[in-house]
Amino acid sequence: MDDVASLVVSEVFGPTWQGEGPSLGRRCGFVRLGRCNLACTWCDTAYTWDWDRFDPAVELAARPVADVLREIEAMHVEMLVVTGGEPMLQQRHLRPLVSGAAERGWRVELETAGTIAPGPAVDAVNAFNVSPKLASSGNPVDRRYRPDVLRAFQSTGRAVFKFVATGDADLDEIAAMVEECQLDAVWVMPEGTDADTLIQRSRTLAPAVMERGWNFTSRLHVLLWGDRRGV
Ligand code: SF4
Repeated sequence: MDDVASLVVSEVFGPTWQGEGPSLGRRCGFVRLGRCNLACTWCDTAYTWDWDRFDPAVELAARPVADVLREIEAMHVEMLVVTGGEPMLQQRHLRPLVSGAAERGWRVELETAGTIAPGPAVDAVNAFNVSPKLASSGNPVDRRYRPDVLRAFQSTGRAVFKFVATGDADLDEIAAMVEECQLDAVWVMPEGTDADTLIQRSRTLAPAVMERGWNFTSRLHVLLWGDRRGV
């Protein structure tokens, strides 16, 4: 039988800071869940899903939600970020985690690629950080782009849309998605897993992002720690 009181977890880490998006710099604990339904060429957490390169027996563990909550509690944080992989693959199992966090007074943010629509199990999430993937991610369009799902997140009134861009060429594609799905709260984040690449791409992208009227975010954890895991 499906045990909704446990989650397939890659790592639990913190205290740290949210590294991306509107909450950049907020102190928090992270739960990174295993598995993903996409395969982005530049994915920086391929150890959650790429079993050609990593061993799931080493990388993932089924963990009771109560254990995960205890581990976050020991961090003395006021915010929990649920990330992946793709956390929405375990949506039904998220209810006890999210409600446990709410009972403790924590803000909950959930990070997703926006291919699976939110249901009642994630009603208590305070903010959805939705990161729709572009053609430059290398995923086929029918797997990475689900306008109906993006509209469902938009209709919660709790979603921001954070697009990872590798260069100016990605911005027209973002504009088309924003227009088709009528998204507001648009953020652009340069792709990069080392500080030099991130800074260079930030400088290249910033003027055009400003011109289009969108928000911009860097990646604090990359600036501080590069691509080190678990920080
Ligand atoms: S959706 Fe996220 S976790 Fe999945 S492959 Fe893309 S970047 Fe990696």
